[in-house]
Amino acid sequence: MARVYNFNPGPATLPVEVLRQVQEELLDYHGSGMSIMESSHRGPEYNAVHEEAVANIRKLLNIPEEYAVLFMTGGASVQFALVPMNLAGKGAAADYVNSGYWAEKAIKEARLQCTVNVIADTAGSSPARLPDPESIQGTPGAAYLHITSNETIAGTQWKAFPRVETPLVADMSSDILSRPLDVSRFGIIYAGAQKNLGPAGVTVVIIRKDLAERVSEDVPIIFRYRTHIEKNSLYNTPPCFNIYVVMLVTRWLLSQGGLGAIAQRNERKARLLYEVIDGSEFYRGTADPAYRSVMNVTFRLPSEELEKLFVREAAEQGMKGLKGHRSVGGIRASIYNAFPIEGVETLAAFMREFESRHG
Ligand SMILES: *Cc1c(COP(=O)(O)O)cnc(C)c1O
Repeated sequence: MARVYNFNPGPATLPVEVLRQVQEELLDYHGSGMSIMESSHRGPEYNAVHEEAVANIRKLLNIPEEYAVLFMTGGASVQFALVPMNLAGKGAAADYVNSGYWAEKAIKEARLQCTVNVIADTAGSSPARLPDPESIQGTPGAAYLHITSNETIAGTQWKAFPRVETPLVADMSSDILSRPLDVSRFGIIYAGAQKNLGPAGVTVVIIRKDLAERVSEDVPIIFRYRTHIEKNSLYNTPPCFNIYVVMLVTRWLLSQGGLGAIAQRNERKARLLYEVIDGSEFYRGTADPAYRSVMNVTFRLPSEELEKLFVREAAEQGMKGLKGHRSVGGIRASIYNAFPIEGVETLAAFMREFESRHG
C-alpha cells in the first residue's frame, strides 16, 4: 500500500484507520449482509450511525441543548444561499466580513436575498490578514453577522471572534473541529465535510433552534432549516454513506483525546512549517503572522519557476497537493486534523533541503 502525504485542500486526507474500517465493513455492515450505503435510511443500522454522528459532534464541541446538529447536502456553497434565505429575506439587512475568496462567494449569494453591509473588508490585503475582532461593530437591526473562520485560500484564520449583538454565523468549512469552540457565541456554524470531517457531499450545520423560526412561508420547505430540525435531517434521504464516514471521523477525534488534544497537535504541525518560513529569506509567508492559519500554510518562493520545481520534486518524494489555489499561485500546505505530523516533518525537512540547493 503506497499512501502519499496528501496536502490537498479539499477533498483532503482522511485518517487511515477510518479508511481501513470503511473497507472492512464495506460488503457486510455489522452482519446485516449489505453495505451501509445500501441500507435503508430508516433502518436500525443506519439510524445508529446517524445518532452517533450527531452525538459525537455534540460531545466534541460541547454543544448546548438549544442547538440542533444537521446534515445537509449541496456543500457550504448552498449554505451561502440558505443563511440569508432563512434568517434575513427581502427587505432585511445582514452584516458580512469580507475576508477573501470564500467570504466573497457568501456575500454574492446574500446580495440576491437581502441588503448586505460589508462592515469590514480585508480581501486582497498583502500580506493576507483579517480585521481585528475587537474593531468589529455590527449594524443596528442587521439579521446576523457572517464571517469565514478560516480562509482556506489565503491561509488566514480568526484567533478570536467578534462580539456583536446580532447572531454570529460562521463558515467553518476548513477549520471545524480543529480546536475547542464556545458554540454559544454563534447562531449558526456550517461546514462542508471534505476538509476536516469526511467526504464531500455532506454539510454539517449547527444552528440555534430559535433562529430557524424566522423563516418566511414563501421559502421552499426543503430549503428551510426548520424542516431539517423537525425531521432530524431525515426529511428526505440524507447522504448516508458520507454521514457514516463523518461518524467514524468524529469517533476517531474522540479517541485522539478530543479537540484540546487535536488543537495542540495542529498547532505543533503548523509551527514546524512556519518556523522554516520565518527562519528563511528564501520562503515568504503570504499571511500576516497574527492571523495565519493552522490549517492552510501559504507561502511563496523567489520565482514561479522554483515554485513549479518545488511542487514537482515534493510530489516525486511522496508529498502531493502542494500547489497553491489557481487564483493566488504559490504553495499551500493543507494540514487538517487527519494530516499526520510525520508528513509535516517530512515537508519541513524537504523545504530546508530545497532551500540549501536553490537559496
Ligand atoms: C471549500 C470551502 C467552501 C466550499 O465548499 P463546497 O462544499 O465546495 O461548497 C466554502 N467555504 C470555505 C471556507 C471552504 O474552505
